[in-house]
Amino acid sequence: VSDTDASRTIEIHEALLGKNEALAERNRAMFRARGLTVINVLSSPGSGKTTFVQRTIADLKGRRRIGVIVGDLATDNDARRLRETGAPVVQIVTGTVCHLDAEMVARAAERVGLDDLDTLIVENVGNLVCPSAYDLGESLRVVLLSTTEGEDKPLKYPSMFQTADIVVVNKIDLAEAVEFDREAALRAISDVAPGAQVVVVSAKTGVGMEAWYACLEHRVGR
Ligand code: MG
Ligand code: ZN
Repeated sequence: VSDTDASRTIEIHEALLGKNEALAERNRAMFRARGLTVINVLSSPGSGKTTFVQRTIADLKGRRRIGVIVGDLATDNDARRLRETGAPVVQIVTGTVCHLDAEMVARAAERVGLDDLDTLIVENVGNLVCPSAYDLGESLRVVLLSTTEGEDKPLKYPSMFQTADIVVVNKIDLAEAVEFDREAALRAISDVAPGAQVVVVSAKTGVGMEAWYACLEHRVGR
């Protein structure tokens, strides 16, 4: 790749991000006008985002009316799992695109039926790299780190963790089996994202989930 090719690639990328910024602001204004809380959930593949969202919907039933937009490269498996909660779910199949952008979310939001909701959860494509650069117009950004991933993930993928409002350490039920070093993980998170609130949960067993809900209510108000 020549220098001109490389700088041209950077220019195109910056133009795309600029366009996304404008659309994200439009989303944010629309969400705000509706009084809708929008939560962007990010992590690497296999960190338990879908289980986390399922448990959140089930536990907050009667407290929040939640709809979901879920992005995956392929399959609607996650959407089918999430629909079992009874919540309205729209799947975005991105094909080769490894992140959601503001335009995809705007189009999916039209289909999910926002009138009946006060909360929209966006389960992003499993990827710790570029989704961090795409503002979707969300009110809250939640990044999951599972105990099976290694304590230094935040140090390796700082830009993702730096943009988090809340970091959720998930799969704490597996901590012992995988010799998870809790102190090292918490240190890595606070090194990279000193402003983020951290909660430690098992979305599978439900342990710690009340702390996440308290955090959510505190952040977005009610
Ligand atoms: Mg998923
Ligand atoms: Zn991407």
